[in-house]
Amino acid sequence: MAISGGCLCGAVRIHSAEEPVAVRSCWCRVCQYLAAGSASVNAIFRRAAVSVEGPLSRFDSVADSGNHMTRSFCATCGTPVLSESRERPDVVIVRVGALDDPGRFRPTGTIWTDSAPAWGLVDPATEQVPRQPAPPRPEPRP
Ligand SMILES: [Zn+2]
Ligand SMILES: [Zn+2]
Repeated sequence: MAISGGCLCGAVRIHSAEEPVAVRSCWCRVCQYLAAGSASVNAIFRRAAVSVEGPLSRFDSVADSGNHMTRSFCATCGTPVLSESRERPDVVIVRVGALDDPGRFRPTGTIWTDSAPAWGLVDPATEQVPRQPAPPRPEPRP
């Protein structure tokens, strides 16, 4: 089933022809900036399945994991939309808050729990990883 999303103001739209490879919450310090104090919720897609229309601003940084990240957000309304890693060019991370139906994308894992504040709620039903986990492997496709 096709997946669609976009930013708060509607200037950016995103589409995926496929379901995500994984959905995870992340409590790393950078995500706390992006998610206004909470964990970010991230759907990891095969890059080939995702298309984006509209003007994105980009911010490059080196993550706590050591990965070289480019985080993209709407230049008008500031909604975080994408995250990409130089080390993982085969996937693109979409912020679940930017998808049209966030209820469909329940996280199955929570990462960087060591960085969560003492009041941070970590869903005990999710697999928990104290820091950076091994990357999910997309299914090979013809
Ligand atoms: Zn916008
Ligand atoms: Zn994070």
